[in-house]
Amino acid sequence: MQEYDVIVIGAGPAGLTATSYASRSNLKVLVLDKGIYGGQMNDTAEIENYTGFNSVLGADLSEKMYQSSMQFGAEYLYGKVIEVINEGKYKIIKTDIGDFKALVVVIASGATHARLDVDGEEKYAGRGVSYCAVCDGSFFKDENIVVVGGGDSAIEEAVYLSNLVKKVTIIHRRDKLKATSLLQERAFSNPKIEFNWNKVVKKITGDSNKVTAVILEDTKKGTETEIKTKGTFIYVGIKANTQGLDKLKITNSEGFIKTNSNMETSIPGIFAVGDVRENSIRQIASAVGDGSIAGKLLFEYIQGIV
Ligand code: NAP
Repeated sequence: MQEYDVIVIGAGPAGLTATSYASRSNLKVLVLDKGIYGGQMNDTAEIENYTGFNSVLGADLSEKMYQSSMQFGAEYLYGKVIEVINEGKYKIIKTDIGDFKALVVVIASGATHARLDVDGEEKYAGRGVSYCAVCDGSFFKDENIVVVGGGDSAIEEAVYLSNLVKKVTIIHRRDKLKATSLLQERAFSNPKIEFNWNKVVKKITGDSNKVTAVILEDTKKGTETEIKTKGTFIYVGIKANTQGLDKLKITNSEGFIKTNSNMETSIPGIFAVGDVRENSIRQIASAVGDGSIAGKLLFEYIQGIV
């Protein structure tokens, strides 16, 4: 079994920052990610609230963070974590590419977009149902599309999509948005964005191949309406990527990991950082902050046990 000082699970901004700090302290570090580095930044077109950049493309910031974090000799492997086992001083990380052993595990596995769990959502995923405007928006040039949700993600992505498509209808279950006021102002003043308030998606319908419409239910009156559309972008919150961690008993009832302000979980040697952490404000800046705290303190932890 290959042995490391530190294994970082997840290569988003939190995991990459922890990697940078740990490997710069001369520790032997492995980063494991089941996808491309950068995490959710890859799903974001433009980032305007990360200090140092007026505006930066999500994919570009991912690349910059990856390059800078790997410069001190950390290894990177594509692999899906199946289970993390606490054996005291050592932690065993079972993955689909083999088993690894480490003194410290940093869980930076992030979060993914929640599903609506309605009829047609799964069937038409990738065929009109999308969770990534940057990836799929250009398929809907000159179409009328819908965006579901009222948080920062929904509004930010609706504004992005409005540059590509004919019209965006935002479907929200209340009559007030949850998104920050700057994003709200941008959406309200955008002539290509309309709002359909107090509606939930009941069903996504289509032909054998693609989405053709969404069926909405009015949350006040209970009436049903249909909007013809080829594209449905869903942004209704996020859920923690904590699969395989159940036995550690470090998550709350919603699956997010509980930590103290040092990013330590209740298990010595296991840290959690970024969006996967309970009470994270889920910003790139806060993820980087979490990663730096864990990356620094894990060095002290290792010095204390070896
Ligand atoms: P969010 O803030 O949890 O918002 C989810 C939205 O979806 C809410 O408006 C919610 O309605 C609605 N919703 C939830 N379940 C629903 C359902 N079953 N049917 C219909 N609507 C449903 O999620 P998010 O927008 O993905 O943001 C996640 C986190 O990332 C937040 O902390 C956010 O600030 C952060 N973020 C930040 C930025 C940025 O700073 N630029 C960008 C994106 C995300 P209610 O309002 O009625 O609850």
